[in-house]
Amino acid sequence: MAEELIISVSGMRGIVGENLTPAIAAEYGCAFGSFLKGDTDAGERGPSVCVGRDSRVSGQMLASAVMAGLCSVGVEAIDLGLVTTPGVGIMLRHFGCRGGVIITASHNPLPYNGIKLLLDNGMAPPPETAAQIRRRFFDKQFSFVGSPQCGRVAVNSETDQIHVKKVLAVVQSQQIARRRYKIVLDSVNGAGAPVAKRLLAELGCEVVALNDEPTGLFAHEPEPTAANLGGLCERVRQAGADVGFAQDPDADRLAIVDENGLYIGEEYTLALAAKHAYSSRTGTAAANLSTSRMIDDVAKAAGGRVIRTPVGEANVAGAMLANDCIIGGEGNGGVIDLRVGPIRDSLVAMALVLQLMAQTGQTVSQLVRQIGSYYMHKDKFAADAGQAERIIARTKQRFAGAAMDTSDGCRFDFDDGWVHLRTSNTEPVMRIIVEARDEAAARRYIDAVSEIRESALG
Ligand code: MG
Repeated sequence: MAEELIISVSGMRGIVGENLTPAIAAEYGCAFGSFLKGDTDAGERGPSVCVGRDSRVSGQMLASAVMAGLCSVGVEAIDLGLVTTPGVGIMLRHFGCRGGVIITASHNPLPYNGIKLLLDNGMAPPPETAAQIRRRFFDKQFSFVGSPQCGRVAVNSETDQIHVKKVLAVVQSQQIARRRYKIVLDSVNGAGAPVAKRLLAELGCEVVALNDEPTGLFAHEPEPTAANLGGLCERVRQAGADVGFAQDPDADRLAIVDENGLYIGEEYTLALAAKHAYSSRTGTAAANLSTSRMIDDVAKAAGGRVIRTPVGEANVAGAMLANDCIIGGEGNGGVIDLRVGPIRDSLVAMALVLQLMAQTGQTVSQLVRQIGSYYMHKDKFAADAGQAERIIARTKQRFAGAAMDTSDGCRFDFDDGWVHLRTSNTEPVMRIIVEARDEAAARRYIDAVSEIRESALG
């Protein structure tokens, strides 16, 4: 596996023991700490940073290395231990830290780990800031301090408790508790189980927990997609549960299985959360350009509207803050509620979906039927920058009658569906996402783009 270490807006990702080593992690900590310290006066104590890690076995090693790097440039570290990604976002704002670091490779397979950075607002750095941190890392522009000025590490174990409290504050827990829901929870041996079990207990739910030991040794492929959740579906049926919840290893994404043991698809997580949000309020929602139209349907029915953003959690969260959105997120099961934090959170998603079920008295499958369905197709193919540009230009000519959004590649919206073409930030690949009322309608768009692609690449 001769893969490159990937450094993007949201941080660094690599393969442990190959390109992601403690030395690299320490230098990344030095770079981030030096950036945060900026022009802090000499003699003044440095800023503080919360550091958390998901359950991957290498997490402790990498977290220690990052904290050593932070301390070496005079930054104080708050070691949160084994926590979720949204948990770090919550704690850094709780303590008024200048930044946060999460050791996680999210849903990537076992050999990977990563280092994700957050700024004081709880969001990933915008591209210009990420570029400055990256430059410091590569140029080794570190502001080392002498022994008396070194940062120290303080241990804190309150993350889950504070996180649960914040989530409970946005739902009516008594109303949910009265339903005594039975839930099967699959946390794929990630960081999510302890805090999710705590939340669900507060909501009066009976929980059958699968893969709830946070060992980092994933019982199945960690991405919460249909192919990886057969065991959860089976268990929901066996247990006669009301719902099945699947978290990814750092617990920012949630996939849902209905009461019949059917995986409903991650796009529905945000649509259901939005349905709850719009049941009592009206206003604006935000979602990235690759997310299903279901959220537009839900918002429109309640007199609201959806702002579309480029792909990337920070883009959605930024739009939500700028427009005071009542709900937002991504079609991959990432739900954001600003009252809890500007970060995707599987606990928020669980609570909002349970609240919707409790207040309507409906089952997940009934709620899904009300939202309706689309056919969605996702694919990717190799294309360098020049080829991607050609494909987009030709598609614009072909789809001249469509409404176009060019903030991230190009999204073409038609009455009966849409097409989103975008390039990857990390590899020479182009992604195509098509959604339409049914497969036949989607197929017409897919075929049209395939034709353009063949002529542009040929
Ligand atoms: Mg994740």
